[in-house]
Amino acid sequence: MRAAHDTLLCSCGSVTDIPSSVGVIGDLARMRISIVPIGRPDGEQLRALVEDLAGAGFEAALDEPERIPLQALDPSRGQYLADAFLAPLRRHAGERVLGVTDVDLYAEGLNFVLGLAQGRGRVAVISLARLGAETDPRRARSRMLKEAVHEIGHTLGLGHCPDPECVMHFSNRLADTDRKSARFCETCQARRR
Ligand SMILES: [Zn+2]
Ligand SMILES: [Zn+2]
Repeated sequence: MRAAHDTLLCSCGSVTDIPSSVGVIGDLARMRISIVPIGRPDGEQLRALVEDLAGAGFEAALDEPERIPLQALDPSRGQYLADAFLAPLRRHAGERVLGVTDVDLYAEGLNFVLGLAQGRGRVAVISLARLGAETDPRRARSRMLKEAVHEIGHTLGLGHCPDPECVMHFSNRLADTDRKSARFCETCQARRR
């Protein structure tokens, strides 16, 4: 059963500014991704992400951590505005820079976001706060990889994809994330060539 507020839930704040038809350039096999911890994400999860991204064909490495941008906290929500997490990432080297934080993120108009990317940019952030690592670490690990690849896909210019198994499919709920794979469908794959 869908809760009344379901339509406001979103796994990705990178919704509006990326037309789904844009062409994408990028050789993922050679793309180097810097993983930047923001706050205190679990070290084991970070190492797992680096490993899983390598398995997905990216070259990923951990970079120096950043502090949580405290001005981004909305005390009444107990959440942080996701946008503010992108700026410090721009100081980091790497063809793409993925921030990983343990705090809960939101974007204007959305109850929360699991990730946010600068469309066709270099930086993106994901949050581990809602992935359920405490209850199901294995599933959380898989969700983390999917969210990471999804946001990296946005930085490559990909929009959301109608194929429910494609990693670029928009997740309204974690169940959608669980249903999709960590891979680009053939159409998305072709677009980034
Ligand atoms: Zn998205
Ligand atoms: Zn797709």
